[in-house]
Amino acid sequence: MKKIALIGSTGSIGRQVVNVALRYPERFQIVAMAANSNAPLFSEQIARLRPAFAVLRQESAARTLPPAPQGTRLAAGEEAFEEACAFADADIVFVAVSGFAGLKASLLALGAGRDIALANKESLVVGGDLVLRKAEEKGAKILPVDSEHSAIWQCLHFDCAAKYRRILLTASGGALRDVPLQKLEKMTAKEALAHPNWDMGAKITVDCATMLNKGFEVIEAMHLYGAPPEKIEVLVHRESIVHSMVEFEDGAVLAQMGVPSMELPIQLALTYPERISCKLPPVDFVKLGALHFEAVNQERYPCFSLALECAQKGGTYPCILNAAGEIAVSAFLKGQIKYTQIADIIEGTLSASLRGTAGSYAELEECDLAARARAQALLPQ
Ligand code: NDP
Ligand code: MG
Repeated sequence: MKKIALIGSTGSIGRQVVNVALRYPERFQIVAMAANSNAPLFSEQIARLRPAFAVLRQESAARTLPPAPQGTRLAAGEEAFEEACAFADADIVFVAVSGFAGLKASLLALGAGRDIALANKESLVVGGDLVLRKAEEKGAKILPVDSEHSAIWQCLHFDCAAKYRRILLTASGGALRDVPLQKLEKMTAKEALAHPNWDMGAKITVDCATMLNKGFEVIEAMHLYGAPPEKIEVLVHRESIVHSMVEFEDGAVLAQMGVPSMELPIQLALTYPERISCKLPPVDFVKLGALHFEAVNQERYPCFSLALECAQKGGTYPCILNAAGEIAVSAFLKGQIKYTQIADIIEGTLSASLRGTAGSYAELEECDLAARARAQALLPQ
């Protein structure tokens, strides 16, 4: 029985982790669970899963929860959240929180010597060196959940240190991939959220449209697979069937394919190194007929270019990039700025921010807060 601490249970990934765990009750048990503020869903999940420990980070939201069933210790606030991230009785911590908040969860889990199933790519974007160092120091594993990184891991036969010549990272191009460039500034949140192939949380769906997400994934791959940026090529692949590929020294290319769903990468991070059956339909190659690949049009995706610059520069640049992205996307979703201003806010924040060092969590937190304040100041008042 694998005991899971699920951090971010109410999100798109968190809900799918719950489904996988409930499908295989003889294999998985969710022993601890944490979320931020979605009290109605959290209380439903508690009733279904009956974890030993359940934490809602936001105390005001936690006050609206009904009493916990017998056997569940219910708590709220920061200290309880930290306890859930390093839960003593868990074998693995599933980090399914979105944004900068995931970094703390990853560091606490690894610090307690737990393996982590890592959906929260921001942990590696913002604090990759720190996260990798902590895993190494404690002998804990980082099991990739992001579909592209799971695909690369599978192509490398689960050996993150294996030799290869190139990583070919695929991207769908997002919801606005066919919108004429001059019409992009008119795009609404609803349009940017209508992803053609994947159903995900709002932040990452907008990041798919701008391809900031793909820039994050380049940084994530650099950390997970020791790849310099020039060894990673990004390809727009509209069918989202090839989840990524690895080219080896002799020119052979291995691809991992499957229908677009997070269920397989979620399940594999939990069953690794074993593969078990998954409820997904097989790929119908005859119906598909063809798979397409294109180069990234940098004019359409300025956020992607900004992310690549930050990947090259390293240090606190990716942390500033992430903070500015969180503020800009949240403003776009509230209708405060236009779609095309997301890139302007990120660029403005990057050029105005003081560069610190990224040596500790405290330094990164300070950098994150300062960058958020600068990004906020660039929003229309
Ligand atoms: P969602 O927005 O759907 O869910 C976010 C989850 O994180 C919720 O449970 C939310 O709690 C919780 N949360 C948010 N802020 C905080 C905080 N400050 N402290 C504690 N918990 C917090 O996101 P997704 O599930 O889409 O994404 C989660 C992560 O996985 C992201 O890093 C994303 O990039 C990555 N990812 C997602 C994919 C997908 O298919 N969705 C694919 C690949 C990667 P609450 O709801 O209670 O407020
Ligand atoms: Mg991905």
